[in-house]
Amino acid sequence: MTTSDALARLPKADLHVHQEATRYLDIILAEREGRDPYDWAAWRRRLAAEVPPGKERLQQIGSMQPVSIDHDSDDELFIGRFAALMRDHAAAGACYVEIRCGGEIATRDGFMSMFRQAERQVRAEYPRFHAEAMAIVIGAGQDRERADVFADACIRAAHEGLTGIDFLYSPYDSEADWAPMYRLAERFAAAGLGITAHAGELSTANIAAAANMPGLTRIGHGVHAASDPELLKLLVDRGVTLECALTCNEYFGVLPELEEHPLLRLVEAGVAVTLGTDNPIQLGTTIEQEYTRAAELGLSLDQLTGFTRNAIEAAFTSDGRKATMLGYLPGN
Ligand SMILES: [Zn+2]
Repeated sequence: MTTSDALARLPKADLHVHQEATRYLDIILAEREGRDPYDWAAWRRRLAAEVPPGKERLQQIGSMQPVSIDHDSDDELFIGRFAALMRDHAAAGACYVEIRCGGEIATRDGFMSMFRQAERQVRAEYPRFHAEAMAIVIGAGQDRERADVFADACIRAAHEGLTGIDFLYSPYDSEADWAPMYRLAERFAAAGLGITAHAGELSTANIAAAANMPGLTRIGHGVHAASDPELLKLLVDRGVTLECALTCNEYFGVLPELEEHPLLRLVEAGVAVTLGTDNPIQLGTTIEQEYTRAAELGLSLDQLTGFTRNAIEAAFTSDGRKATMLGYLPGN
C-alpha cells in the first residue's frame, strides 16, 4: 500500500471547525435554486491581493455572509447545513468532528436534538462517523451580564448533550484579561463541559493564560508556542492538546513568512497535536487535505495516526464513543 493510500484510509478527526452557518446555507440554497454557490476561491484571491497577511487579513474572516442568517430559522435548513458539514467531513475520511458554534446557535431551543438528527442522517451513510457540538463564548470580559446569561444557557444545553466550550476574546494578539473567562470556565468545568480557547494564532500572547485556565485541556492554534521553549514546556506539563490548522495559518499569513510551519517542531517538543480545518468552505480545504499537508511537512504516517489518536483522546465526547473510535485506528 502506498503512503497516499494509507493516508486516505487513515481515520481522521477534526477538533477545530467553525459551523460556517451562512456558507453552508448558501450551498444548500444554491442547489435548490439551481444557481452556483458563492465563489470562495475568488474571495480568497481578492482578499490576498487587497489585504496584507497577519492580523488585518484574519480580521476579514467573517466579513462575507453569502446569504442571510435568517434562513437558519427554518429547521430543515438548519439540520441540513449541519448534516452538510458532517457529510463533507465523513466523505474526507473523518470518524469524528467537533463543530463549534458562535452566536446563540448552541443555546437555541431543541438545538441538540436537531444536531443529533443531522448526525443520524450522516451515520446512515457513514456508520463510523461521530459528531459533537460546542458553543463559543465571545467577549466574556466586555459584557459580564450578557456572558453570565449565555453561560447559564450553555450549562442548560450541556444537559441536552452540548459537550464543549471555546473562548474567543480581545485583544487576541496581546494579553487579554482572563479573570472573567476563568470565572466562567470554573462553572463550565463543574458542569462537565470540555474547555478550549483560541490563543497563540498571531503571537505568543495568551498561550500561558489559556494553558492555566481552569478545566482547559486544549488550545485552538497555539502554534506560536513553537518559538518559546518555556511555553512548549508549559503545554507539555499541562497536557494541553493543540488544534492546528495548516491551511488557515498559511492563508491568513499568521506565521513568519518564508519559515516552514512549526508543526513538526511542536510534535518533536512532545506537544500533543491534532489537525483542524477551521473554516473549510471559506478556505477551500478538507480534513483529508490537512493530513496531506502535514505529510508534506515531513510528518510520518505513524505521527499522523497519532494526531487522530490525540484528537480522540482529547475529544469532548463520551468514553464509550472514544473507545469505539480508538478501535478504528491501525494497531488497535
Ligand atoms: Zn478557529
